[in-house]
Amino acid sequence: MVLPKDIPSSAENYMDSQTLTKLPISSILIIIAMQTEALPLVEKFQLSEDQKSVFPKEVPWVRYQGIYRNLQINLIWPGKDLALGVDSVGTISASLVTYASIQALHPDLIINAGTAGGFKAKGASIGDVFLVSECAFHDRRIPIPVFDLYGVGLKQAWKTPNLHKELDLKVGKLSTGDSLDMSAQDESSIVANDATVKDMEGAAVAYVADIFKVPAIFLKAVTDIVDGEKPTAEEFLQNLATVSAALDQAVTKVIDFISGKCIHEL
Ligand code: SAH
Repeated sequence: MVLPKDIPSSAENYMDSQTLTKLPISSILIIIAMQTEALPLVEKFQLSEDQKSVFPKEVPWVRYQGIYRNLQINLIWPGKDLALGVDSVGTISASLVTYASIQALHPDLIINAGTAGGFKAKGASIGDVFLVSECAFHDRRIPIPVFDLYGVGLKQAWKTPNLHKELDLKVGKLSTGDSLDMSAQDESSIVANDATVKDMEGAAVAYVADIFKVPAIFLKAVTDIVDGEKPTAEEFLQNLATVSAALDQAVTKVIDFISGKCIHEL
């Protein structure tokens, strides 16, 4: 929490966490896995790339930052894989950047925004943007009591009833795994997770946010229909640019809504 300018920073010592959560949100961390998804938002919020990184010099992670409507925005993109040059998608990079960003930037709220596969049987269509109610993993099968639950790693998103009412976004559960395709085993876990959307980062971000008790919300825009006719990779690439635009619009509306509110008013 970054205190408003008129409160001396020493006041933080005298404030309990209850008081702090009644202050308006001042610092938002946006985590986005792919450059195509991130750059339109960098432009929209007029963010600038960090010249002196808050991260270790070895990592490819990129921080864009700026002030938008009184909010300190930090947008973190895990960058391109150092060996292969593609976006560092997936749970490993997502959890590492979430951890390091929380440590370095102390956000009041995390927004994980990205594209996802959607299930038409659960009401998803191309271009829909979902506000996620809860996240779980579908590729961590450990059939031993209690480890099974650890593997699923179910986490609730921060509850945002007012945001939901105001913006009229679809709400659904998210299932996360490290593959773009879906094996038969993944499919049965996704059904067990009751998921409407499927991605490669959300539950990893949720895991780290939960450790540090930072409220987190997840906005996922559907690029491909998993239970449809078209091959996922082809459909994903076809729709990535247009759906990223829909995602960016939704993120902007969400940030506009957040501006001036405290965390319990969302
Ligand atoms: N072929 C792509 C690879 C991107 S991986 C490329 O050329 O860049 C897919 C990214 O989009 C991940 O960040 C993931 O979170 C999201 N995604 C979109 N559709 C998905 C699906 N059906 N399953 C899993 N992740 C999906």
